[in-house]
Amino acid sequence: MESMMWLDFSMFLVLLGLFFYVFAVGTITVLHKIYFALHLVLMVWPLTQFIAQTMPGSPYRLFYLLASYSGLSLVGVGWFIFVVFMTGQAQLIRTRRLIMLSVPALISVAFVVVNPDRLFLSINEQLTDKQLQSGPLYWYMIVQLFSYILVSLVIMGYTLRRGVSVRQQMLVRTAMNGVFVLVLFGLGDFFVNIILINYFSSYFSIFSVGITLSAVYLVHAITRHRVFDIIQIVQRDVMNTISTGIIVLDESGVVLEFNKAMKPILKLKIGERFSPEALAVHLPKPIRKQFNQFLQEQKLWPMERQELEISLHNNGHYRYIVVQAAPILSQKKKELLGRLLTFHDVTELRLLVDETNTQNELLQDRNRELLIMQDELFQANKKLEHMAITDGLTGCYNRRYLLQQLEHEIAVNVQYGIPFSIFLFDIDLFKAINDQYGHLVGDEVICSTVEAVKNTLRSADILARYGGEEFTVYLPHTTRDQADIIADMVKESVEQNVVRTGLGSQSVRVTISMGVVSVEQFDKRALDDPKAFLRELLAQADAALYEAKYSGRNRIVKRKLA
Ligand code: GH3
Ligand code: MG
Ligand code: MG
Repeated sequence: MESMMWLDFSMFLVLLGLFFYVFAVGTITVLHKIYFALHLVLMVWPLTQFIAQTMPGSPYRLFYLLASYSGLSLVGVGWFIFVVFMTGQAQLIRTRRLIMLSVPALISVAFVVVNPDRLFLSINEQLTDKQLQSGPLYWYMIVQLFSYILVSLVIMGYTLRRGVSVRQQMLVRTAMNGVFVLVLFGLGDFFVNIILINYFSSYFSIFSVGITLSAVYLVHAITRHRVFDIIQIVQRDVMNTISTGIIVLDESGVVLEFNKAMKPILKLKIGERFSPEALAVHLPKPIRKQFNQFLQEQKLWPMERQELEISLHNNGHYRYIVVQAAPILSQKKKELLGRLLTFHDVTELRLLVDETNTQNELLQDRNRELLIMQDELFQANKKLEHMAITDGLTGCYNRRYLLQQLEHEIAVNVQYGIPFSIFLFDIDLFKAINDQYGHLVGDEVICSTVEAVKNTLRSADILARYGGEEFTVYLPHTTRDQADIIADMVKESVEQNVVRTGLGSQSVRVTISMGVVSVEQFDKRALDDPKAFLRELLAQADAALYEAKYSGRNRIVKRKLA
């Protein structure tokens, strides 16, 4: 019979263990788990006290009373661990330390369970109600219990003074109230049921009420402030790990919260009013003014988002910070609850942009230089091209260019039967001018003669220096009759041209002799060898010129190509 009873109890323990296990491996936060364990420990007391009082026989009654006290032995340490996690000191307490810190409570449990020689608790059979009597080990439990509670209170007090967030302050205060209720009722129970046991005829479950009240209070606080909300915890972690500084102000500008990134920059504590002076870095006067204006504008337009860029000079370096202010609105009514200030360091970005701009400018300069160089090259090329086809002294075309042009022109003329003419002229007795006035004056005479001829010719006519003081003119679309007129005009203009020698008032006049060839009848066979045809043409012109010289100079000899 008795063994079956223990089997039941074992099964209960297995089920309880499984219950714990499910919570231990579940995806709830550590704080959830710890609160859950604390809650279970708190539940042990009222349950076992209830059972103990339903037991008629002393041994069983004592057993359940001891069970309730073993639960009670763990209440202090349970609270202590819960408070440590709740106040964010968990990183200080590793598993090994936690086990060490739990030792006094575990010793207490051992005392209760073993209860050697009833040194912890016994039932006083002499008393009518067979009330319990505490032994010396009982006092050990009381001491450890209160020590844990005291340490928990100290941690909470320290947390409050350290200036944590408003939300956490509320949380810690709630927990403190919970502890206070627990201690108050615990003391009441202790006095009524232990110290003054002889004055009361029956047991009062004061502590059970205290436990329940404190748990209700705690659960209320937990649900109200959503302390275990994993998303909120993640949000807080994110807020503290980002590099952007965040300050939350209430609607009157009082700091409600700031994140870790803001800590070194801010000289303020939570609950104080925010102002530019609160920034730990030195703000030059104009920037402070700008900042104040920025804050002022938020008062004027509280529903607007605003942005300000400030540059902080620090140890020879500039840091560029973008400050943004955004209203915090209530979800439903869209009422203004406060303001979110963010401080975002954009120095790196700025430097990058500056660098890119500088590179761009350099590239543009380089491009401009290239364009200039290209232009210079183009001009030089043009000059070269010009030089390649012109004569250096007179500026008219050279012989090579003329021959090249003529070859092409003549082919077209023959093909389409277009009449054309060619002049070949030479300055008369030029050697004498050279001899008399020198080569420089000779050069001047050549140039001046070219000018005179040019002025007489039409713009389509091509004048080229054939060699020395000998020139050729190609006259496109020009019949023999037209050529005659132009040739006379050219000869006349040269004759009339007076060249200043530069030697006092002396001036020179020259004449020219000219051979003229006109082509009006076309033999297509000429197209077979245009070069030979051209050679023949020039030979004719040369012969005509020779004839003009031979027959007395300053005259024109005309030839018609047969
Ligand atoms: P002619 O009437 O028979 O043509 O007599 P000419 O003295 O003009 O004889 P020719 O045409 O054979 O001589 C040309 C002279 O012109 C020879 C050369 O010394 C001179 N001459 C050729 N080219 C230049 C030049 O560029 N500058 C100068 N100053 N003299 C040149
Ligand atoms: Mg000559
Ligand atoms: Mg000559």
